[in-house]
Amino acid sequence: MYERVYNFSAGPSVLPEEVLLEASKEMLNYKGSGMSVMEMSHRSKEFMGIAADAEKLLRELMNVPANYKILFLQGGASTQFAMIPLNLFSNSKTADYVDTGAWSTKAIKEAKKYGTVNVLASSKESTYSYIPKLDKSAFSKDADYFHITTNNTIYGTRFTPDNLPDTGDVPLVADMSSNILSEVYDVSKFGLIYAGAQKNMGPAGVTAVIIREDLIGKAMDITPTMLDYKIHADADSLYNTPPCYSIYMCMLVFKWLKEKGGVAAMEKINREKSQLLYDYLDQSAMFKATVAVEDRSLMNVPFVTGNDELDAAFIKEAVAKGFVNLKGHRSVGGMRASIYNAMPVEGVKALVEFMKEFEAKNK
Ligand code: PMP
Repeated sequence: MYERVYNFSAGPSVLPEEVLLEASKEMLNYKGSGMSVMEMSHRSKEFMGIAADAEKLLRELMNVPANYKILFLQGGASTQFAMIPLNLFSNSKTADYVDTGAWSTKAIKEAKKYGTVNVLASSKESTYSYIPKLDKSAFSKDADYFHITTNNTIYGTRFTPDNLPDTGDVPLVADMSSNILSEVYDVSKFGLIYAGAQKNMGPAGVTAVIIREDLIGKAMDITPTMLDYKIHADADSLYNTPPCYSIYMCMLVFKWLKEKGGVAAMEKINREKSQLLYDYLDQSAMFKATVAVEDRSLMNVPFVTGNDELDAAFIKEAVAKGFVNLKGHRSVGGMRASIYNAMPVEGVKALVEFMKEFEAKNK
C-alpha cells in the first residue's frame, strides 16, 4: 500500500478518499451487474441510473432551477470556448468578455472566429493579479451574451458570488471550471455555466454545462452536430457514447458532497482553508500572496518568495515531506497551492506548518 500524499495539483487534482475507496469496491462488479461501470452499455439500466443520479445530485447541490438543463459533454472546458459562440450568437453576433487570464484569453480568441467580441476590461498588465472593475456603461446593450471566468486557476483570482456583473437581460456565461461547487453561486443569475470535471467534480473527460432552456436551439447553421446544445439536450446527454466512467465518478463525488452538507457547508470549510493560508502569507517575511485581497480565490493560492533559488528549494523540500504539485504556473512563477473541495483542512494546516518551519530555517 502506498502512502497518499497531500496533492496540491491545479487539475486533474485530489479526489475524496472515500470516493476512491467506494469506486474501488465497485470496480469489478457494480451493484450485482457482474461488470465494471467501464464495461457496461451506456443504454443499460445501471448506467442510465448513474447518469440520472449525477444530474439529480448536481441539480440539488447547486439549486439549479427547473428551467435549466444540465448536460454532461466531452471535449473539456476548451470545447465550450467554441460551443458557446456557435450556439449563442443568434442575434447581434456580439459578445462582451472580461479578460482575467489565460483561460479567458483562449475563450476570447475562439469566440472571435464566429462574431464580434468586445473585451471590456483586462488585468493583463499586472499579470492578472486582480479582477478589473467594470464600467456598466461600456456593456454592449445588444450583446448575445456576456462571458466571465469566475475563478482564474493560474492567477488565483475570482469573481465573488456577490460581485457578479449586472448584465440585465444579456445572459451571463461563466467558466466555473475551477470553482464550481466550492461556494454558493445563484444559478438563476447565469444563462450558462460550464466546468471541466477535473477539479471539483471528478476525473477529466466530462464537462458539465448548465444552460437556461431559452438559450437552446439557436445554434448557427455551421455548428457541427456534436457542438449543438439542442442535440445533447434532446438526447439527455446520450446522443453518442458519453464518458461513462467519468460521469460515474462525478456522481460519487456529488453524493460525497451532499453527505458533507452540500455546497454551503463546503464553502465554510473552503473559507477556513484558504484563510489559514492567506493569514500566514500576509504576515510572512518570506512568502507573499500575489493577489489583491478582495479578489482572492478560495481554490488556487499562488505565492512567491521573489527568489527563484529559494522557490526551487522550497518545492524540493515540500515533495520530500509529501506536499506535491506546488510549483506555480510559469507565467506567475513561485508556488501555487490548489486547495479544492477534496483537500482536507489537515492538508492545509500541515502545509502552513511546513512553510513556517521552512521560513524559520532559511531566514
Ligand atoms: N478554464 C479554466 C478556468 C481552467 O482552469 C481550465 C483547465 N485548467 C480550462 C478552462 C480548460 O479546461 P479543459 O482542459 O477541460 O479544456
